[in-house]
Amino acid sequence: MLSRRNLLASMLLSGIPAFASEVKDWDVIVVGTGVAGLAAACSALEAGAGNVLILEKSPVVGGHSILSTGYVAAVDKPRQQRAGIEDSPSLMLQNMLEVGGYLNDVELAKIVCENSEDTVYWLEKMGVKWDGNIYQTVAGLHPRSHITNFVRAGYDYVMALLSSAKRMGAKLALNTKALDLIEKDERVIGIRVQNLDGSITDLFAKAVILATGGFTANVELRSKFDPRLGSEFPTTANPNRKSFDGATGDGLIMAQKLGAATKDAEFLQLIPFWGARLLDYVGADIYVNNQGFRFVNEAASWRDVSNAILEQDKREMWAITDSQSKKGASLGVKLMNGTVKKASTIKEMAKAMGVPIQNLEETIRSYNKFSAEGMDPIFGKKVFTQQINQPPFYFGKEKLAVHFCCGGIKLNKNAEVVKLDGSIIPGLYVCGEASGGPHGHDRLGGVALTSAFVFGRIAGRNAVTM
Ligand SMILES: Cc1cc2nc3c(=O)[nH]c(=O)nc-3n(C[C@H](O)[C@H](O)[C@H](O)COP(=O)(O)OP(=O)(O)OC[C@H]3O[C@@H](n4cnc5c(N)ncnc54)[C@H](O)[C@@H]3O)c2cc1C
Repeated sequence: MLSRRNLLASMLLSGIPAFASEVKDWDVIVVGTGVAGLAAACSALEAGAGNVLILEKSPVVGGHSILSTGYVAAVDKPRQQRAGIEDSPSLMLQNMLEVGGYLNDVELAKIVCENSEDTVYWLEKMGVKWDGNIYQTVAGLHPRSHITNFVRAGYDYVMALLSSAKRMGAKLALNTKALDLIEKDERVIGIRVQNLDGSITDLFAKAVILATGGFTANVELRSKFDPRLGSEFPTTANPNRKSFDGATGDGLIMAQKLGAATKDAEFLQLIPFWGARLLDYVGADIYVNNQGFRFVNEAASWRDVSNAILEQDKREMWAITDSQSKKGASLGVKLMNGTVKKASTIKEMAKAMGVPIQNLEETIRSYNKFSAEGMDPIFGKKVFTQQINQPPFYFGKEKLAVHFCCGGIKLNKNAEVVKLDGSIIPGLYVCGEASGGPHGHDRLGGVALTSAFVFGRIAGRNAVTM
């Protein structure tokens, strides 16, 4: 693993280092240092690339990947069997298609599922250490998610892959923004970049991999694809609008200039993200509206949950749990800053929320009955890990933020970029949230990372061997 000092040293490189333009023809240039780009770089080096350059426009590595909660959905027979869980790539595929509204490119979704188990073991080889448990994430539909820990899992993946890529010889240029693809005879032969001082450099390569992430932070672009998503919605990567969010669709814009098609780019995922949800697993909390009533199956896909929230008064909801649930490390901060509050009784909680006491008491009473019976006949919830009956109760208001691009640049099974006329752009590959195909209109919980790892590896390998 990279030591913190080495990491800091690599972060301090300002703009494109001299070596980048000294190499006349890179084997592979990867744009983006999220998990897709880093997996691609590692895979290209494993496949025999002599030199690989990774570009990152920001002064630090990691993109959305480093911020992610870190659930990775994968079939993993040994661990799942130890936990008494039956699973298979075909069940995972069925879950992806169900959540994706059957709009997924089935061939690509199948590749994600069939390669998920091997990817878990490959990540271990790259230095990732799972906590050993299997979780069912929110919108995950089945217990198959892996994580390293609940504090900094995204950081763990980025650092493990960055460290492996560097060990195998990859070069990294921070503060270096890819501006445009360079094409000759209808083949991508390099990329034009802007350095920190504003100067422009042309870099040449046998293959370029776009791993630039999504476009959730580009209000103009996202509202072209979904006009509902104006500037009133922050992103989950930058909920307070105070930090940098590099998900501006640069790869999509560059690829479209060369005639690239998009797939499912009109489907952006919204999730409640004001901070009041304390749990990243299902079965231990409920969502209620300003009248104190439940309005959705809390274990449903994000698309169903967010569409239901958009129909509630003020497009907001309350998340409620109790003392028994497993809460994240941020609980203390959230209690201090008032995002989450505590109450000893349901009456006290209802008063603080400003919802009718009787409604909330009845909602929780009937929910606990459903939980005891294992079935919610109103919204169809089937996953219950507890009742909500052990004070103190924890509650807070939630609103929606833009979370994930379910689609993007259309890719094929080789991670090549597909044009509007169905042909491919030779020399150009895409992976991760910049790409569109596997997910359809929504994504299964934990599968964004899986898909980024799987197609990152495919892109890296094919950039060298095809
Ligand atoms: C808060 C949060 C929690 C999440 N939790 C989960 C989870 O638990 N499980 C899951 O499966 N998914 C999760 N996701 C989604 C998942 O993290 C992302 O889909 C995934 O990390 C995207 O990886 P990526 O490598 O494609 O893009 P990113 O990680 O976003 O990396 C793209 C990189 O490209 C750089 N870049 C962009 N344009 C340029 C340019 N022109 N030149 C140079 N560099 C450029 C960006 O700065 C960025 O560093 C979460 C997302 C968020 C925001």
